[in-house]
Amino acid sequence: MNYRSALAQMKPYTPGEQPPPGKFIKLNTNENPYPPAPAVVEAIRAAASGPLNRYPDPVATSFRRAAADALSLPGPEWILAGNGSDEILTILVRGFVGEGQKLRLPYPSYILYRTLADIQGAAWEQTPFVDDWKLPAAFGHSDDDLKLVLLPNPNSPSGTIVPPDEVAAIADSLTCPLVVDEAYVDFADDDCLDLVRQNENVLVTRTMSKSYGLAGVRFGFLVAQPQVIAELAKIKDSYNCDAISIAAATAAISSQDWLADVVAKMNTTRDRMASELSAMGFRVTPSHANFVWCQHSSGRHSEIYEYLKRNQILVRYMAFPDWGDGLRISVGTDDQIDACLLMIGRAIGSLG
Ligand code: PMP
Repeated sequence: MNYRSALAQMKPYTPGEQPPPGKFIKLNTNENPYPPAPAVVEAIRAAASGPLNRYPDPVATSFRRAAADALSLPGPEWILAGNGSDEILTILVRGFVGEGQKLRLPYPSYILYRTLADIQGAAWEQTPFVDDWKLPAAFGHSDDDLKLVLLPNPNSPSGTIVPPDEVAAIADSLTCPLVVDEAYVDFADDDCLDLVRQNENVLVTRTMSKSYGLAGVRFGFLVAQPQVIAELAKIKDSYNCDAISIAAATAAISSQDWLADVVAKMNTTRDRMASELSAMGFRVTPSHANFVWCQHSSGRHSEIYEYLKRNQILVRYMAFPDWGDGLRISVGTDDQIDACLLMIGRAIGSLG
């Protein structure tokens, strides 16, 4: 078969393990351990008995209105809805980075960006974080081939943040758009939405998969100035969000009190988990997300991961070439984290 050469050369992106429900305490892909707001389930029920023989609203108007309201944006024309923020990222890379051009990402961070460049036949350039997850000035340097810069903020796997004033300085020094991927921002204290109002070149992506507890529904969105949204909307599939997802996401983003309660609960669990891991000999990176990145003094992370997996606890083992490895553990319920910590203690004890 004659596939495009870009496709033949690229390695596929492999998301985290998704075993059938019930087998593991699942702390590997930063989902929410709590269900979404009750209004979400009601909205799904109502949508399921709605006219499913009809196409959905192609531009998810109800969601965009509710999101503009919840996030104090001027109006729905500042928002583009997508099938998870992964689809939004796809739209962004398709929109800005052509064959032979280049995008930039920090390292280590979200590997999917590289795959999206590969699909385009574009190049990617990784700028390593320095001094415990700070960005070097080189991250803000422009060149002719550079067409898009992507910054997960908070970052994964570290959970660290670059403060908005530093993000603003990076955006000012770049000649191409800067995408701030705020998948985990509801667990942090700061966000970059104000920068979007001030700078056409700052684009923010958000997801309903993490803080809102809707990973199974697939819904994410872009916040950018209206002329940017209008241009990028040309790329999306005609009906990229289905009627049930639109209803669910609209109800979820309208349930801000529920969100605040869930986030407060998860952040408390996260901080407790971090201090208990430190006491067990881990170096734990201070996290502003719903996971922690930790490295044990023994360095034997893959063995700890395997031990946990044999005992029905799934965390993420991550190894980054020329950088190092460690464990990324998602925040679960308090009971789940207690079980995980107990098993980590046993894993360490078994290392010999
Ligand atoms: N950005 C980052 C940094 C992520 O970790 C993830 C989750 N894998 C996403 C975006 C995508 O999330 P979703 O497609 O579920 O919205």
